[in-house]
Amino acid sequence: APKKEKLGIALVGLGYYSTDLLAPALQMTEKCYLAGIVTGTPAKAQQWKAKYNLADKNIYNYQNFDQIANNPDIDIVYVVLPPSMHREYVVRAAKAGKHVFCEKPMAPSVADCEAMIKACADNKVKLAIGYRCQHDPNIQAVMKVAKEQKFGKVKMINSAAGYFDARTDHWKQKKALGGGVMGDMGVYALQGARLATGEEPISVIAQASTTRPDIYKEVEETMMFMLDFPSGARAACQTSFGINMNYLQVNYEKGWLKLEPQSGYLGNKGSMSDGTKIDFPIKNQQAKQLDEDCLAILNNTALIAPGEEGLRDIRVVEAIYKSVASGKSVKI
Ligand code: NDP
Repeated sequence: APKKEKLGIALVGLGYYSTDLLAPALQMTEKCYLAGIVTGTPAKAQQWKAKYNLADKNIYNYQNFDQIANNPDIDIVYVVLPPSMHREYVVRAAKAGKHVFCEKPMAPSVADCEAMIKACADNKVKLAIGYRCQHDPNIQAVMKVAKEQKFGKVKMINSAAGYFDARTDHWKQKKALGGGVMGDMGVYALQGARLATGEEPISVIAQASTTRPDIYKEVEETMMFMLDFPSGARAACQTSFGINMNYLQVNYEKGWLKLEPQSGYLGNKGSMSDGTKIDFPIKNQQAKQLDEDCLAILNNTALIAPGEEGLRDIRVVEAIYKSVASGKSVKI
């Protein structure tokens, strides 16, 4: 078959993120388009079919999903389900011979992430994690300071990501579906520290808490965790479903950097101690992520955030839960 110029994407799970962010972004992309959907809700199938002019043959449910293997319109399956379902659908998509995009958090456990990476490698398909911020030039500016050691070594980081979630009966509050704030907003606080140092943490001590025990019965509402990095840098990180907060502060040997917000959809911005502003314009973060990941597939080049990057975070997330359980510092 001739090489395609635009790849067809099927979204799996038509909840908030697919509906409000990814589908609209797929109307702005140049290297891909919304070609299909996978949903367990027939009414959504009808709405999306009409709204996005989808062919009946490109609409699947969770039972007949594997038949997507025979559909040349679909090049990429984008898994936008609750985290506990990511592994199953990434593996089924890989076995169907489709490239896979998977939302964060990659999965609840390191073992899940490793199985997902293996399934994609075995089936010779690419696996990208939906770390949209790594495609944002404002976040890339922070990574560049680390790489170039512009202000010398990182000494201390304060990284926060949280919002007030008013819902009382959602998967984010259920352990079996992969809930808990650590995987959800916590990975943004963690990414802030990892990307600002350009290093992987070697140990962590963490504490979980909740102000709404009637709602957060199975999972934590708030997580505070402190990371040690090989260079000696340390990070104090906070994440919560009960507090609106989103910022990154990095103190280097010879200066500082501040970003607020650090993981917004648009408008991540800040400044550095030498007066440099961090305020790059970005039209649509998800569209940029989708186009860049599709270009990597079309040109067979490296992805910005492959499965291995999702796994790095989950390795730390697992250590954080171990620390909460033991009350002690945990080596990573
Ligand atoms: P929602 O709860 O809004 O949607 C999840 C969808 O998954 C549902 O609407 C449903 O779609 C499907 N689903 C299938 N089985 C279940 C089940 N047992 N329980 C609940 N839903 C089920 O979640 P979000 O859209 O907020 O989150 C989905 C994923 O996207 C998560 O991994 C989340 O972390 C990530 N996300 C990423 C963001 C980012 O900025 N990168 C922002 C927001 C979310 P259907 O009816 O079609 O079957």
